[in-house]
Amino acid sequence: MNFCSNCGKPVHLLIPAGDHKQRFVCSACNTVHYENPRMIVGCLPRWRDKVLLCKRANEPISGFWTLPAGFLENDETAEAGAMRETREEANADVELVRMISLYSIPIIGQVYVFFLADLKNLNFHPGVETEITALFGRDEIPWDQLAFSSVRYTLQKYFANEGDSSAPVFVGSYVPNSESTEEKNWAKG
Ligand SMILES: [Zn+2]
Repeated sequence: MNFCSNCGKPVHLLIPAGDHKQRFVCSACNTVHYENPRMIVGCLPRWRDKVLLCKRANEPISGFWTLPAGFLENDETAEAGAMRETREEANADVELVRMISLYSIPIIGQVYVFFLADLKNLNFHPGVETEITALFGRDEIPWDQLAFSSVRYTLQKYFANEGDSSAPVFVGSYVPNSESTEEKNWAKG
């Protein structure tokens, strides 16, 4: 950020009085411009023992598989955003069952929320950001071609607890210094 969105004058990076982190502060109107993580909402749509995945048509990570998800808009609830993204990316109509996962990636300021959802019908088909939509059983998931670690985490937890209606919301995060190669790349699964 270079200029104040309130008055257009230059901003400076400094720690405001009483704060503990550097913020962009306007030199003219003293507005403090807080920057906070963005929320990504999506669904894990299921049909009997299969789940719906989308093959991405766009960068980043074109050609890899993901769950339908995207940035939450200012004027909508997390639930509505998850259903909207599922319609946009897969033209799929779902009924939300419950929140299934909360996944943080602090190094890029993102928080994912996924909802387990039941497909209402099989009329899904690719939206503009999607190349292919398809149902996958537990043993058919393309684990080495998943687009994001949040998707891998959510699918792993779902299949590990399949059929357990009392399973908790799974809470995970991307750990960049982890020894686990699985957790080293937040992108590409
Ligand atoms: Zn200003």
